Amino acid sequence: MHRPNSIREILDILELHGEDARILAGGQTLVPMMAMRVASPAHLIDLALAHELHQFDVTKGALRVGAGVTQSTLEGWDQLALKQPLLEMMFPWVAHSPIRNRGTVCGSIAHADPSAEMVLALMTLGGSVTLASKKRERTVNAADFFLGALQTSREPNELIVSAEFPMQSAETGFGFAEYGYRHGDFAVVAVAVVRNGKSWTIGFGGVDDTVKVFRIEASSIGEVDEHINKLASTIEVREDPTATSGLRRHLMRTLGARAVNQAFEFKGNYQS
Ligand SMILES: Cc1cc2nc3c(=O)[nH]c(=O)nc-3n(C[C@H](O)[C@H](O)[C@H](O)COP(=O)(O)OP(=O)(O)OC[C@H]3O[C@@H](n4cnc5c(N)ncnc54)[C@H](O)[C@@H]3O)c2cc1C
Repeated sequence: MHRPNSIREILDILELHGEDARILAGGQTLVPMMAMRVASPAHLIDLALAHELHQFDVTKGALRVGAGVTQSTLEGWDQLALKQPLLEMMFPWVAHSPIRNRGTVCGSIAHADPSAEMVLALMTLGGSVTLASKKRERTVNAADFFLGALQTSREPNELIVSAEFPMQSAETGFGFAEYGYRHGDFAVVAVAVVRNGKSWTIGFGGVDDTVKVFRIEASSIGEVDEHINKLASTIEVREDPTATSGLRRHLMRTLGARAVNQAFEFKGNYQS
């Protein structure tokens, strides 16, 4: 168990032990995996004492969230509804508050569950992930970061330093709707909508191995709903013990219509 005090120390350890090491952020996913022997890393690198990572700020047109920032810290930020309304809508749906008290935003992104709300937000907002190794730092678009279910383009010697959620304009509308079997369960399907005039971005979580994002131009809600109905009938949708593909297609339509309506009606005091 390593408890480094700085990013530099973390990167030194990752350089030496990357293949056999796992970053321990909030531990809300990793610890249960270790308890069930699904993961048994030789080295654990705890982020708790690396205070540089425990910060978030609005910089270069984005909300930049450091790897140590817990979901509840960001949820409790009094500016969240103004700066990133989509995240404010989503947090109550991420597990339960005791899990959000420990779980980090970047830990969820690192885990890359296609039903995770943070993954859906990052993809729908067109965000990015900043990674660092001893030799380089790079920023990767969310669309290139998530490769599949629980798969990302992170190299074993890289630390996710932060995730960046781009700010939108004052006129942007946001909508979010989700269905899960019980409160706090992962989404069966979740839909996020970002509207800028006639341009609509629609993200679907839980439907396949990665979040699916579509950008369309439409001048009425009816037109957007029509697009969503077509997508729900035509795109690849997974079938698993959680839900049939038929249920998922149905949820895409119904939740999609709800989120579109919310984005259309959205009246936030949004500040970029
Ligand atoms: C009962 C339960 C219900 C849940 N429901 C939901 C839900 O509805 N929606 C949802 O989105 N999530 C849900 N979660 C997951 C929760 O949000 C976790 O907190 C989150 O997925 C992982 O965050 P963490 O900080 O605890 O990461 P950890 O558990 O510490 O790490 C998770 C993985 O990411 C890697 N990792 C973490 N941080 C970094 C980093 N900076 N750089 C590189 N790799 C890193 C770790 O090595 C590990 O492989 C649930 C969890 C539980 C236990």
